[in-house]
Amino acid sequence: MNGPNRHCIFCDLIQGAAEVSVCYEDANAMAFMDIQPVNLGHTLVVPKKHYESLKDVPRDVAMHLFDVAVTLAPVIQRASGCDDMNVVVNSGHQAGQNVFHYHVHLIPRRAEDNFDIALPFEGSTMPDRTFLDAMAARIIAGLRDPARQAARHTTRAVRAG
Ligand code: AMP
Ligand code: ZN
Repeated sequence: MNGPNRHCIFCDLIQGAAEVSVCYEDANAMAFMDIQPVNLGHTLVVPKKHYESLKDVPRDVAMHLFDVAVTLAPVIQRASGCDDMNVVVNSGHQAGQNVFHYHVHLIPRRAEDNFDIALPFEGSTMPDRTFLDAMAARIIAGLRDPARQAARHTTRAVRAG
């Protein structure tokens, strides 16, 4: 839900309780037309089960949703007549997530549609290499963290069992 116990519009759509234009469905995922598209063809790929954000989605579900997104992308491109596309996940309030049921946006792009995810960000600077190296080292250490590895093994064992 959008925060504890809050109502989720995407759960409603998945359960057939509200109007939706579905373009793909399987046991674990659904894709439908965004109600307020950047361009016609703007599609949302969602898990059928409710997970709020990227940090909540089980790894296998996240991989499956991306697999569905990769399958849909060229079909949407052909159907919308747009050669280019943004694939976007807004995860968390600060990242611009408005509907707190995890979803992947497939956004077909046209010249002069005025939508923009401009990178590099105009308001940013290029940090000294030492800061980039330090952050890379923190991430490498995080990947090696024994607690993290134990958690992943436990999750795998639970799924296998
Ligand atoms: P986000 O900001 O990443 O959470 O994006 C939420 C997206 O959900 C927006 O692009 C909305 O237009 C879209 N949206 C909200 N309500 C609906 C709905 N009932 N059906 C389809 N798309 C929706
Ligand atoms: Zn939901």
